[in-house]
Amino acid sequence: PADQAEPDPSKKTLVVLGTGWGSVSLLKKLDTTNYNVIVISPRNYFLFTPLLPSCTTGTIEHRSIMEPIRNFLRHKSTAVKYYEAEATKVDYENKVVHISDDSEIKGSTSQTSVPFDMLVVGVGAENATFGIPGVRENACFLKEVGDAQQIRKRIMDCCETATFKGQSPEEVRRLLHMVVVGGGPTGVEFAGELQDFFEHDLRKWIPEITNNFHVTLVEALPNVLPMFSKNLIDYTEQTFKEETIEIRTKTMVKNVTDTYIEAEFKDAEGNKVLEKIPYGLLVWATGNAVRPMVKDLMSQIPAQKDARRGLMVNEYLVVKGTENIWAVGDCAIANYAPTAQVASQEGAFLARLFNQMAKTEDIESKLGVLSEEQSTASGKEARDEVFGKIKDLQKRLRRVKQIGPFEYSHQGSLAYIGSEKAVADISWLTGNLATGGSLTYFFWRSAYLSMCFSTRNRILVITDWIKAKVFGRDTSRE
Ligand code: FAD
Ligand code: NAD
Repeated sequence: PADQAEPDPSKKTLVVLGTGWGSVSLLKKLDTTNYNVIVISPRNYFLFTPLLPSCTTGTIEHRSIMEPIRNFLRHKSTAVKYYEAEATKVDYENKVVHISDDSEIKGSTSQTSVPFDMLVVGVGAENATFGIPGVRENACFLKEVGDAQQIRKRIMDCCETATFKGQSPEEVRRLLHMVVVGGGPTGVEFAGELQDFFEHDLRKWIPEITNNFHVTLVEALPNVLPMFSKNLIDYTEQTFKEETIEIRTKTMVKNVTDTYIEAEFKDAEGNKVLEKIPYGLLVWATGNAVRPMVKDLMSQIPAQKDARRGLMVNEYLVVKGTENIWAVGDCAIANYAPTAQVASQEGAFLARLFNQMAKTEDIESKLGVLSEEQSTASGKEARDEVFGKIKDLQKRLRRVKQIGPFEYSHQGSLAYIGSEKAVADISWLTGNLATGGSLTYFFWRSAYLSMCFSTRNRILVITDWIKAKVFGRDTSRE
């Protein structure tokens, strides 16, 4: 009921920004009876990003990896408020967050502010473009559901346009050239999915494109997947070769137009060459950049003046220089890679911390009452009884306060590389297990399935996999 959601003045207000890996993992484990919890995010669902590359080709339908935030919040013991809005500014001094409803439908109020006692920033990161001209205007990214839908649409549009009556051979080659920039896991997984789409479905449905459909992966560094073991990098590059995906390493994209990219590399003599590479679809996956709202917050806190890649946090994930702001996930800099694994462990840690903090405050206030009782108690027996209670509570307090700093436990790295193969670097009892191939692919599938947010998501994903296998992927352009 609505009145249950009214803030309780005896409790602190905890505002959580974002509904991604970090924030949702915090909300999952948080005992919401201890705080007035308010969640603010422009996205009213959680997105299981590891399977997002599969949505670009229709192997998985995007709704199968989305979980409505309301669905999960309604199961919390105390009502949690959710506002579908973007936090435009955190006013650190005055402890308020300014928010704005940027969705299509706006009411007479679409901007307001929300005061907080405690704030968790889990807004993730935006796409890095390094200021390279033309990227924002012409490339597709792969971070959100809308990006995957746009890519899916464009793949089909390129194929249909390439088969348009009278299209010149040169234009056909351009339209069917699918260029992926960035050889990190996002770029590699997408390139693998796209080649699968072509091999399993497109070439059967549109045979005319068979000779010209071509995927190229461009990477500035000497190899792809730099975070994986050397033998898995070699395995990925070899598999791509067999799949006929071209890898252009040591090639840096410098400029993007609507029909070609300009990429720089060194020729055999060591001279820099700038090559124009025509494309039909361009997917840009060169990693993360700091969101403007996070940059603005950093500029308000003197201790963050040297921060570049995000909010610097201490070992308890407190934003350095503050006492009541915590940061999790891709917007926090705690010396870990910006991954879902890190974000979710950080969120779970904060939930434990906040649950313990509430218990501590509760015990401390009880102790205050008891020490007053002790001073007014008449008779030795009554005083001893109160004293005993105080001792018990003090013991509990010591136990509750014993929460160690955040420690990340790395479970391993997994990536799909196409043609039903995956690579995995798994932390094993005694060391590291680096494996690649079809068996790893089944491991990849079962691992991601088990990590899905809900049973509902799991069933939908399995159904999608079966549908794609039996009927092929859907090539209609929505
Ligand atoms: P996010 O999950 O990005 O969530 C950020 C949230 O903040 C969103 O809800 C967003 O709507 C909201 N938000 C944004 N701006 C504002 C604002 N101004 N105010 C309020 N809310 C805001 N990692 C792995 O470990 N394994 C994988 O297999 C893997 N695969 C990936 C595949 C892809 C295609 C991508 C893009 C990433 C993948 N990652 C993977 C990385 C992983 O998704 C991120 O590290 C993770 O999402 C970070 O979690 P987060 O909570 O910090 O941010
Ligand atoms: P990334 O930062 O891992 O890789 C980006 C790549 O782009 C880099 O290798 C960089 O050298 C290259 N690059 C940058 N500018 C370039 C240019 N102008 N021209 C050519 N190449 C250029 O980015 P990502 O793949 O988007 O991943 C982001 C984060 O999400 C990472 O932490 C990653 O581990 C995580 N993630 C994990 C998985 C997985 O575990 N399966 C999947 C996707 C993402």
